[in-house]
Amino acid sequence: MTASMGQKHEFNALPYSYDALEPHIDAKTVEIHYDKHHRGYFNNFIKASQGTEMESMSLEEIFSKISVYEDAIRNNAGGWFNHDLYWKMMIPGGSKQPSEKLLSAINETFGSVEKLMNELNNAAMKRLGSGWAWLIVTPSGKLQVTSTPNQDNPLMDITKERGTPILGIDVWEHAYYLKYQNLRKSYLDAFWKLINWDEVSKLYENTMKK
Ligand code: MN
Repeated sequence: MTASMGQKHEFNALPYSYDALEPHIDAKTVEIHYDKHHRGYFNNFIKASQGTEMESMSLEEIFSKISVYEDAIRNNAGGWFNHDLYWKMMIPGGSKQPSEKLLSAINETFGSVEKLMNELNNAAMKRLGSGWAWLIVTPSGKLQVTSTPNQDNPLMDITKERGTPILGIDVWEHAYYLKYQNLRKSYLDAFWKLINWDEVSKLYENTMKK
């Protein structure tokens, strides 16, 4: 099922080709991850939200009261949004470093970019089973590393540590199993070679303006 004309919710194109992240993330993994998993979450959300108020709501609005909806909404709206963010976190070749504003916030909170990366790796490694590691901006404008299970995210009202995600790492096995099997750490090392600091910086600065 695809979004019809004029409908609010639409499935975004992948911002690069399936093989663009080689050799760090292989083309087959990107293809299955985007075209099967990500698209599946979108299609299932559209199905579950048909004929409801959610058809005209933004995902942010839906997440802010996710506790009132059924699990199919929580899992599929979460899966759709989280992956939209995830694809933007990477860019072929990676981008060098955070913007001046983000860099100074990172240094203030974590000490250095390397220390932030270590914290995110720890959150990703400690996540038992499937889920996500996040860098969020808290409601008071502070950076924080956190993690959620399954397809939950820090915008959801059921999440303990809430905030606006500006960096998200998918640690479901479907994100790395074909190439790295059980070696989640090798996948994290690959992810950092592709990190799109320009996008993370843009999300940080937009969030701080709100
Ligand atoms: Mn995934």
